[in-house]
Amino acid sequence: MAIDTAIVTPVTAEAYALALDAADPLAPFRDRFHLPPGRVYLDGNSLGLLSRDAERETLTALEQWKTLAVGGWLEADPPWFTLGEDLGAMTAPLVGAEPGSVVVAGGTTVNLHALVATFYRPEGRRRKIVATALDFPSDVYALAAQVHLHGGDPATDLVLIPSDDGRTIDEAGIIAALTDEVALALLPSVLYRSGQLLDIPRLAAAARERGVSLGFDCAHSIGAVPHDFDAWDVDWAFWCSYKYLNAGPGAIGGLYVNRRHWGTAPALPGWWGYEKARQFDMAFDWRSAEGAGAWQIGTPSLLASAPLRGSLRLFAEAGIGALRAKSLAQTGYLIDLLEMDGLLAPPFGYGIGTPREAARRGGHVAVEHPEGPRIARALKVRGVVPDFRAPNVIRLAPVPLYTSFHDVWQAVRALREVVAGGEHLRGEAGRELVA
Ligand SMILES: *Cc1c(COP(=O)(O)O)cnc(C)c1O
Repeated sequence: MAIDTAIVTPVTAEAYALALDAADPLAPFRDRFHLPPGRVYLDGNSLGLLSRDAERETLTALEQWKTLAVGGWLEADPPWFTLGEDLGAMTAPLVGAEPGSVVVAGGTTVNLHALVATFYRPEGRRRKIVATALDFPSDVYALAAQVHLHGGDPATDLVLIPSDDGRTIDEAGIIAALTDEVALALLPSVLYRSGQLLDIPRLAAAARERGVSLGFDCAHSIGAVPHDFDAWDVDWAFWCSYKYLNAGPGAIGGLYVNRRHWGTAPALPGWWGYEKARQFDMAFDWRSAEGAGAWQIGTPSLLASAPLRGSLRLFAEAGIGALRAKSLAQTGYLIDLLEMDGLLAPPFGYGIGTPREAARRGGHVAVEHPEGPRIARALKVRGVVPDFRAPNVIRLAPVPLYTSFHDVWQAVRALREVVAGGEHLRGEAGRELVA
């Protein structure tokens, strides 16, 4: 973000951060959130903050339950009966999909199972699943179990693409692994530790050419990065709503199924995925709902989805394109400050694990340090909330809806002062139970 004061104010000055905030058209959204008092919150990639909009929707949901009771399934506005489809349509612009291709349901790992069970069809030589060695562990547990369910052995049938540098995965290496022995691939859109954003359209095109069903785990990209799933012809995807979507701890998740696959019978069906008009016929024959709604399993939680409704309105107001532009400006500014302040050299010794190119960055910056766990604790003592991923990654996520440039500036100052003053050496070693 270019500003006039740059001529006279050095980028590392506090005044520069304040000038960036003053010039930021998205700055007013910050007041729509409950910010933890006295804290600089940079952990929105793990748990997003509560907005007033989400809070209001939750209170409305309680009121509807109070006054409508069972009548709410049809009489609530909008009716609870089509909650998943309705919120799916509101989410669709964030993933570049037609409304019927998205449904809000389940949770990340549950949706992974529902989709992989459906689209993993090992046959003849094509038995393998491709994922990456830097995946979130839940995905690897689930994929190994799916291989087992088909009588396979994960040691041979689950191929984890290795990383050359322990941080990133090379797209060319993934594509080379999509041989005629591969039935399905599941990739993270953004790697949870380093924050690398994979080239989704390139991978989707390569998978199609090779006859591999390819899905994306978008837990770290939904709400942070624009997606264009229909145009990129992605097969399927899923995500959670409690990170950048700010829908609250354990909020209901979401999934995408390309129109090409509508009508495929879900492998883990439940009555909530039945053709809506006949669901209450209670008949035993299976009729898939049209679109992604067929992958719902059971009754969705009204209370775990109400905050999402409020939050999605904020996204519609701000626009994911504008949010992405600010996010890149903020992560770029954070990286610049670390460099210009000398924090990447001794005696500080921080490193950056996130790709420098904007097009390969998700929403957070992975700041590495051998004393990572203790520095993360010392930052919290100072009121800066990062999160930490073993063994040495301090993740800092400026969230464009509520993080200011001044927050970023304060976080970098804290990184410097913690090490300069040896503050981290006074704390306990080792990570916390939830880190
Ligand atoms: C956060 C996250 C999950 C979490 O799974 P849940 O089922 O929602 O607990 C899964 N995968 C990735 C990549 C994540 O970042």
